[in-house]
Amino acid sequence: MRKIILLGATGSIGENTLEVVDAHRDAVELVGIAANTRWRELAAIAQKYAVKHVAIFDETAAQEAQGSGTFPAGTRFYVGLDGLIEIATLAEANLVVTAVVGTLGLKPTLAAIHAGKDVAVASKEILVLAGQFVMAAARERGVSILPMDSEHNAIFQCIGEEKRHVDRLILTASGGAFRDYTLEEMARVVPADALKNPNWNMGPKVTVDSSSMANKGLELIEATWLFDLPESRIDIVVHPQSIVHSMVKFCDGSVIAQLAPPSMTFPIQHCLFYPKRLAGTRPSLDFTQAFSLEFRAPDYGKYKCLRLARAASRAGGIAPAVFNAANEVAVDAFLKGKIPYLEIPEIIERSLEKIPNRVPVDLDDVLAADAEARLLSGQ
Ligand code: MG
Repeated sequence: MRKIILLGATGSIGENTLEVVDAHRDAVELVGIAANTRWRELAAIAQKYAVKHVAIFDETAAQEAQGSGTFPAGTRFYVGLDGLIEIATLAEANLVVTAVVGTLGLKPTLAAIHAGKDVAVASKEILVLAGQFVMAAARERGVSILPMDSEHNAIFQCIGEEKRHVDRLILTASGGAFRDYTLEEMARVVPADALKNPNWNMGPKVTVDSSSMANKGLELIEATWLFDLPESRIDIVVHPQSIVHSMVKFCDGSVIAQLAPPSMTFPIQHCLFYPKRLAGTRPSLDFTQAFSLEFRAPDYGKYKCLRLARAASRAGGIAPAVFNAANEVAVDAFLKGKIPYLEIPEIIERSLEKIPNRVPVDLDDVLAADAEARLLSGQ
């Protein structure tokens, strides 16, 4: 029986996770749930799945929740960052799913690993900012880091027991909303244009990141940590259909790919029951119907964010954290109409130039770099 703590229960990954839980109530139990502010949604989830432990990061929201009388009788509440850390280390859980937005999930995730729990990682920041600490702690404690992002989950499935035979990883990318735009056309886009992803239904930040391929850049950095390979051994290929979720090329030249329809329920379910496989919640690919798969190299001239992510990954130290923070600030400014679209990579580049790189000593040091980059790129 999987007994899970779901950090980020009210977001889009949380929603998809609940869909999988719903389909397999006899194989998985929701022990605890956490969210930042949306306590009404948490209350509904707590009622439906009889969840006993509820964490809310925002203190005002937590107060409202506790006084609302909408949670099941006897609910135990956890508040703030300490609350998130406490719920992530509950003795009765054996898997923590980290799907909270931003850097909020870092400390709870590390605490869960130290407490000996397997962790399914959906939040990009966990590995982009703290890859070395997370992987080292997981090795030390002998726990599994299960990648929930579709690309990394695909690679994880393709590698199987053959890690030592891996030659290269091939990360696929939809190419986002502007994959057929020229650089001149990209210069004129407005937020509404960037919020249309052709294949995936995601939140606004990720959708913009997908259009600029900053998202693939973050995934590239994550992959270096998860699979212990330098960025030079990870290729990126534009695959407009988003059916091949990534591939692995082995030393003998064979390539293994993982295919599924573009729905997060597939990688989520794989993580929840790994190494077992249970019946899927959605229809899979139907090969009796004709469809085609295309692949093409990304235009690095057009996707500057991708170039910068590769450079940040090569540089190591706090550079990936700076890349991530500057991108987040820039995307926010773009969505608010304060900067043009192509200013996003410029802000990232300036931040990477201005902040001297260093090897972080611990998680707090990385978080300090994150804060510094946010301050600087917002100016
Ligand atoms: Mg992805």
